[in-house]
Amino acid sequence: MKTPRITVAHGDGIGPEIMAATLNVLEAAGASFAIDTIDIGEKIYRRGLNAGIEDSSWDKLAENKIFLKAPITTPQGGGFKSLNVTVRKSLGLYANVRPCRSYAPFVKTKHPNMDLVIIRENEEDLYAGIEHRQTDEVYQCLKLITRPGCEKIVRYAFEYAKRAGRKKVTCFTKDNIMKMTDGLFHKVFDEIGAEYPTLEKEHWIVDIGAAKMADTPEVFDVIVMPNLYGDILSDVSAQIAGSVGLAGSSNIGENCAMFEAIHGSAPRRAGQNMANPSGLMLASVQMLVHMGQGKVAQKIHNAWLKTMEDGIHTYDLYRAGVSKQKVGTKEFALAVASRLGDEPEKLQRACYSDESPLHLKYEKRDLPLAKKELIGVDVFVQEDNRDPEHLAERLKSAIQNLPLSLQMITNRGVKVYPQGMKETFKTDHWRCRLVSKEGGVSNHGVLWMLMRELSQTNIDVIKTENLYLFDGQKGYSLGQGQ
Ligand code: NAD
Repeated sequence: MKTPRITVAHGDGIGPEIMAATLNVLEAAGASFAIDTIDIGEKIYRRGLNAGIEDSSWDKLAENKIFLKAPITTPQGGGFKSLNVTVRKSLGLYANVRPCRSYAPFVKTKHPNMDLVIIRENEEDLYAGIEHRQTDEVYQCLKLITRPGCEKIVRYAFEYAKRAGRKKVTCFTKDNIMKMTDGLFHKVFDEIGAEYPTLEKEHWIVDIGAAKMADTPEVFDVIVMPNLYGDILSDVSAQIAGSVGLAGSSNIGENCAMFEAIHGSAPRRAGQNMANPSGLMLASVQMLVHMGQGKVAQKIHNAWLKTMEDGIHTYDLYRAGVSKQKVGTKEFALAVASRLGDEPEKLQRACYSDESPLHLKYEKRDLPLAKKELIGVDVFVQEDNRDPEHLAERLKSAIQNLPLSLQMITNRGVKVYPQGMKETFKTDHWRCRLVSKEGGVSNHGVLWMLMRELSQTNIDVIKTENLYLFDGQKGYSLGQGQ
């Protein structure tokens, strides 16, 4: 069989040291691949490329499909784009998988029985990165949740759980507040979950779910969640398992996959042979499983577990009385390599098969298109006068000859007109809901006329958002207090 090629980036800070350590162990274990190396991160940013990656590297990534990446340093200050987000989105790596397991008593943790996997949506949510400054006082970041995005990640979570022999899939959302966006994620979880009758399913509101996870992580198995919650909670989960320095992650797409440690480039530890290479090593274990080299992955993972048990620890895990030897990055890798073939005695041993990778092809579901009816528009305006009655009078005067009426005005989502409360704090950013008098705006021409009238009345329109009914159901939320 042809030797697979993978792309490797050695990264910044502690990146080159932990990558060298990881590659040494992979080689010693007999992993089968050839390497193409690319430069990413600081060096490239300094050359003026704001994405932190050269165009030619994209070709390699797309060609090899498997990417083992060390952490990079994202320069502070404006203009630089996060390379991680760009790579994930450009290669369509929609599923971020982070197993978090404790290794008590060898690694200190309050949760000795923790063994959960966080599956985080990786491409959308607030990470669409669509932000605007709209007024002197107000900035906005758009939270985009799509049906295909939810279907892909939820399906992946269930398929992952089935294949890994897990028992339960939990969904975290905040759909008591974000009924439409997080509500869609929850709805898709229920829809797709119904196709997996042998797996237990549950949903938690993310705040109390996170509290429960931090307190009693052993009650969770696989947890699937939208991007931002997953970003935060997977770090919490890795940390309470023992250390962020121990966790690896995979980023899986339909065709490509990227494997990395979850920690950053730890610049203060760079060049001192101090860093713990375990996060990247365990990410490379996930990579081998993904490449169908499960038995080699198992050998490395068990040697790593045995090294932990033998008390050979880097500075971040070292504890007098528990650890036997404090070692540097290179020595830790040598210790793992010398235990290849050994198995842990106390910790649960790793067991992987040589199965083919879990790359799910998204299949668009055959749902009928909804009947979409335009019934009004939310107009967002900047207005420094904080009296909503004043704004309402100006708006009413502007629309007097149009088939629209002013239904309400909100400020930061709370209704302030009609009948607002004087106690409500108000900024210079107002949402004015105009709805059709006749129960439907026949065409967008009315909206064009509206814009003309508003500009003639010197109303400072920031943006508009059309109000639609989808099969007669409101495609927008009500104002708070409406
Ligand atoms: P960090 O994860 O680099 O460091 C946080 C703390 O953990 C530090 O005290 C560090 O010394 C320690 N630490 C991290 N990894 C360790 C390891 N393997 N062994 C021992 N100790 C370790 O986070 P940070 O300081 O917030 O970020 C530093 C840089 O890394 C920033 O430029 C950030 O943008 C970048 N970063 C990159 C990635 C990535 O490339 N995937 C992820 C997160 C942060």
